[in-house]
Amino acid sequence: MQLVLLGAPGAGKGTQGELLEKEFSLPRIASGDLIRQAVKQGTRLGEQARAYVAQGELVPDELVTELVKERLAAPDTEAGFILDGFPRTLTQAQSLAEYLAAQNRGAVTALFLALDEEVLLHRLTGRRFCPRCGTSFHLTGRPPKREGICDACGGQLEQRPDDTETVIRNRLRVYRQETEPVLDFYADKGLLQRVDGSGDPEAIFSRIQAVLGEKRL
Ligand code: AMP
Repeated sequence: MQLVLLGAPGAGKGTQGELLEKEFSLPRIASGDLIRQAVKQGTRLGEQARAYVAQGELVPDELVTELVKERLAAPDTEAGFILDGFPRTLTQAQSLAEYLAAQNRGAVTALFLALDEEVLLHRLTGRRFCPRCGTSFHLTGRPPKREGICDACGGQLEQRPDDTETVIRNRLRVYRQETEPVLDFYADKGLLQRVDGSGDPEAIFSRIQAVLGEKRL
């Protein structure tokens, strides 16, 4: 099963990607994580990507496509994968389709998590994470038991620097401009499945399972 998760920032791609990863034992490949890791490690690619991420702009197609292809070449993706946050532009969608076709790996299923912009803003501004173990929280939706402290490992919770309101508004603008055309790219090929992204993670996951079950992937 080759899945692509589409949706605006805050639509729940990360959360649903993690649930899918567990359910199907497939690797989740999040382009944002790959980029943040490269930035942290100070690689050539990371240095080039740093300023774009900080401003909520898209990292140039060649850079992010290189990172994702490198990851897709690893043997653990042979049975399938869950791509989260990639593709985000038409060029990236075309590159991915060409890459998979060249390896006879078949087409992807694109799952679009649809959600209103007001809800997206609320989700993103309240988002917190633990830099030590990676667990995610939300100030109102999934609050930690002790304020500012990770339930799982006791680490100090942080806000992603690009989750501030100004940067979020820019990320949503970029999404409308660059990523929405990707929905049509997959819809035209009959590969797009729309899922209502509202409600709690379990409810959304049930909807996804229903869609995937119908398709019998
Ligand atoms: P995310 O964790 O998916 O919200 O991504 C965080 C940031 O990484 C984005 O705001 C972009 O700057 C960059 N990024 C992640 N994925 C991509 C992509 N497919 N294309 C370009 N930039 C990306």
